[in-house]
Amino acid sequence: MCRRFNSGPAHSTTASSSEYFQAMNYRRRIDALIACICLIILGTDLTAHAAQSVQLETTRQADTIVFSAQGFNCTEATLTIDLTLDNMTASCPTHVSVDYERNTLFPALILTPIDARRPWHFRYTYKSHVGCRRHGSATQPADYDYGLPYRRGETHFVMQGAFGTFSHFKGTGDEQCIDFQMPVGTIICAARPGQVVGIKDDSDRGGPTPQFKDDANYIVIQHDDGTYGLYEHLCKGGSLVTLGEIVNRGQPIGKSGCTGWASGPHLHFGVYNNLSGSKWFSYPLTFTTPNGSHQTLLEGNTY
Ligand SMILES: [Zn+2]
Repeated sequence: MCRRFNSGPAHSTTASSSEYFQAMNYRRRIDALIACICLIILGTDLTAHAAQSVQLETTRQADTIVFSAQGFNCTEATLTIDLTLDNMTASCPTHVSVDYERNTLFPALILTPIDARRPWHFRYTYKSHVGCRRHGSATQPADYDYGLPYRRGETHFVMQGAFGTFSHFKGTGDEQCIDFQMPVGTIICAARPGQVVGIKDDSDRGGPTPQFKDDANYIVIQHDDGTYGLYEHLCKGGSLVTLGEIVNRGQPIGKSGCTGWASGPHLHFGVYNNLSGSKWFSYPLTFTTPNGSHQTLLEGNTY
């Protein structure tokens, strides 16, 4: 149960785009224009940005191509880009992960023709995931006891815990996450203070198979140690916060739902950092519960 990204946060989405230019002589530019028109007519443009949380764009500046990005559901993200180049050189490797923050890519990505007198072109695909890698240490998060992500006095059944076999198994990146069973519309509270860096709440689709993974609504909160808290599967219109908002521990931030890859209404909560635009890892979690501090939540129990 999980996967935000890019159309959802969790998780992942793929988009691609292509550009075609010819340089220098007029005849070649006419040829390029005809080629572009043919692409449009034939519908072969692979652009599929609607599914991404970040849209990657290119701008031609003299004889160079400069990449830029714009976030839709987030203020920061990690992008993994694959470039195919013909008679061009890139400022980065052709398979590269970059961070997006404050409308800027780190590092910058620029393409330059090797021989501008000859035709040159490029093509790219990318995946993006909410949260960048520039803050804090991914390997040394602060020792922290999280609050239960719902209102004080409520109790909820843990339907899947760490290394759960439904969707928290090894290789998913969600190994350490917790799924709390709860009715649609339950108020979700921040388990730790931070800043809202990702919101998606426009989906009303969900189901028990991975094909729904990009349909999950979510809220992502960046913590002060650079980790990201994920609250997933919220109902449509279920966000109570705005991008950039600073939230306190215990503050209501959303309403639970059943969107995305979910076998039933629940909240998926996890804390993660990105490795790339398509890979991330989750941290072991301890909570403060009515039973005391430093509690590990176990599948099959109610807290
Ligand atoms: Zn889950």
